[in-house]
Amino acid sequence: MSNSYPAPHKIVFAALAFIAIVLPVGGQSAGGTADSETFLHKNMTPAGPAASDLAAPVEKLLGQMTLKEKIGQMSQLDLVMVTDGLGQDLRIDPDKLHKAVVEYGVGSVLNVNDTALTLEKWQEIIRAIQNEAKKTRLQIPVLYGLDHIHGADYILGSTLFPQPLAMAATWNPELMLRDAQITAAETRKAGVPWNFSPILDVGRQPLWPRLYETFGEDTYLATVMGVAAVRGYEGTDLSSPVSVASSLKHYIGYSDPTNGGDRSPALIPERTLREYFLPSFAAAVKAGAHTVMVNSSEVNGIPGHANSYLLKDVLRGELGFEGLVDSDYADIKGLVAFHDIAPDEKGATRIAALAGIDMSMVPKDYSFSNLLVQLVQEGQVPMSRIDEAVRCILTVKFQLGLFDNPLRGMNSQTAVGSPESRQVSLEAARESITLLKNENRTLPLSKSTHVLVTGPDADSLIPLNNGWTYTWEGGRAGLFPTDRPTILKAIQDKIGAGNVTYIPGTTVDKEIDIAKAVEAASRADAVVICVGEWSYAETPGNIGDLTLPDVQLELVRKILETNKPVILVLTEGRPRIIRTVADSVKAILLAYNPSNEGGQAIADILFGDVNPSGKLPITYPRFPNRLFTYDHKYFAGQESGEGKLLATPQFEFGFGLSYTTFEYSDLRLSPETASGKQTIHVDVNVKNTGQREGKEVVQLYLSKRYASITPPLQRLKRFAKIDLRPGEQQRVSFDLTPQDLSFIGHDNNPVLEPGPFVVRIANLAQTFEWK
Ligand code: BGC
Repeated sequence: MSNSYPAPHKIVFAALAFIAIVLPVGGQSAGGTADSETFLHKNMTPAGPAASDLAAPVEKLLGQMTLKEKIGQMSQLDLVMVTDGLGQDLRIDPDKLHKAVVEYGVGSVLNVNDTALTLEKWQEIIRAIQNEAKKTRLQIPVLYGLDHIHGADYILGSTLFPQPLAMAATWNPELMLRDAQITAAETRKAGVPWNFSPILDVGRQPLWPRLYETFGEDTYLATVMGVAAVRGYEGTDLSSPVSVASSLKHYIGYSDPTNGGDRSPALIPERTLREYFLPSFAAAVKAGAHTVMVNSSEVNGIPGHANSYLLKDVLRGELGFEGLVDSDYADIKGLVAFHDIAPDEKGATRIAALAGIDMSMVPKDYSFSNLLVQLVQEGQVPMSRIDEAVRCILTVKFQLGLFDNPLRGMNSQTAVGSPESRQVSLEAARESITLLKNENRTLPLSKSTHVLVTGPDADSLIPLNNGWTYTWEGGRAGLFPTDRPTILKAIQDKIGAGNVTYIPGTTVDKEIDIAKAVEAASRADAVVICVGEWSYAETPGNIGDLTLPDVQLELVRKILETNKPVILVLTEGRPRIIRTVADSVKAILLAYNPSNEGGQAIADILFGDVNPSGKLPITYPRFPNRLFTYDHKYFAGQESGEGKLLATPQFEFGFGLSYTTFEYSDLRLSPETASGKQTIHVDVNVKNTGQREGKEVVQLYLSKRYASITPPLQRLKRFAKIDLRPGEQQRVSFDLTPQDLSFIGHDNNPVLEPGPFVVRIANLAQTFEWK
């Protein structure tokens, strides 16, 4: 390839591998995870019990239900519809509860009412709801659902984990699996059996305010992490007191809006949808995920909630999904309110029901139930569609064991927020944080350094967590634990308060005291500037400029004038552009949103107690108007002269430094010519050539030299995170299958075309020929 992108320090191209094995070459291995494909295969077995085993009780129950009871099951209401009061004063309103559960027979309730609750409060609320369900004719339990996207974030005192984007930066699916297992157990302990996670939208639009909820821009990495999450949530038995049903969201194409705004339209050709956006959902369905939530927005002019092709033909037909399809929040109303595809809510309800929505997140009135009953009575929606939807809902309830015990999990041995679980979160934070620059080995800092800590994100847990943390937008300081260190506090704990000066300098968008920070910098040995974002969720997080707010850049520029070594610590949910200061600062640590243990993890890395091993799960852009993913087309990166900079992101996907060095050698492929059902075996040697133990992510990229659809420059196909002691080496191997070499062709089906392929691992490349 003549194109200079990507730079040699990182790994490029890939061909698909099937199974990879990591073998120590000399000395004993310090450990590490299996390769990505072995992990995937190991975790593809759906949790039991199978739907077919429950067909008899489901059909029996369905046969006893009236139309109103069936449609009640299809309705999902917000908690506000059964309670009064806010926060810990929340209480069940008996009349509201009776109306929802007994009169309307609603199948599901969701959400918090403003803030997270204590475990005991949740148990009280869920117990009351399930007791009310016992008063109904058929005693069908209610399915409660919550957004526990980075730990059980709506239970006070729970274990919170780094946001999904940070989890992807670990490139360690075993950690994602543990995260999801702990989240499931803590969620079920509250009596809640359904988690609206994982987000499998591939995050290819960095402006999108939900980027931090995704596993980043790459389809394969998101697939591996997504399967880890499903397996962790659902386990091997969905009815276990430590399992919850997962929800794959938001099916599909939500994450790539043209203008970058939440819930705004996307134009994604079907071929692209299938190549980049569908595989993460397909794998998670195969891994047994029991529910799917639908894209609030529209793709190619068709709202997700009206797209019967994507919901029926693709999701049910091709992917074989048998679970429950839930709408997103008020999104059937949205077909009238903002999509303008129906004259009124009744028309919208008809469209959505016929398109394949099984349950409507209504959420704050009874319109869906009332309108759907009318539509069936008028013959506008067939009874068969209602039965199909209710069958899916009842099946999931049976699978979760709710009919045996709707409070299952409340009596489990799970200790919410235990020190052991927090340790897993700390490990995840440590493995996610990504060292992007380290000029002259500025880091790690010596513990006798006198440090100025400044910047808006230095002394708060809010930006360490971002949205979906105790409240929807995550910004309520009083709800955060008081015993977890901010970045500032963790640095003080590490090197002694006497060695640390703190001046905030700015908020995220306003100056406080930059001059004071500059003055303090002149007396410090080094300056740690904590910049980035505050907290946001969904549409309120929309921005018009990806650049880091100017007041924060100004703080950095002014501190740089003191000529003191500057270390930037970035806590942010999406890559805010830092081009104007990136070349001048000595070190850059990207922490994403590492959550409550993140302050400690950052301090551990700054002062060398932990060797960083995170790698970027996104391309970090250099310019706000020049956005591309690592797997862009060759000519999208073509520039000449001054334009060369335009073709180079600030930091490339997959990049991340360590305090040690790794050397790759002896990349071998066999056979070099293959056809039919043959696999290509790939081997490479990786050696720790530095002075300390470190983890490395071995990344295998594949490129096709030419194809009938212009090929991307490279695709990640396999990875393995390994751990090497100084001087230790391992031979890492992967196997690529024919399926791995295919792409979505002209007819929207996978095609494998003959010709040369290039496999790249780090700075090594080898070619093979497919006949
Ligand atoms: C979000 C979903 C979420 C739902 C329920 C919606 O606004 O798009 O991701 O699961 O609310 O809270």
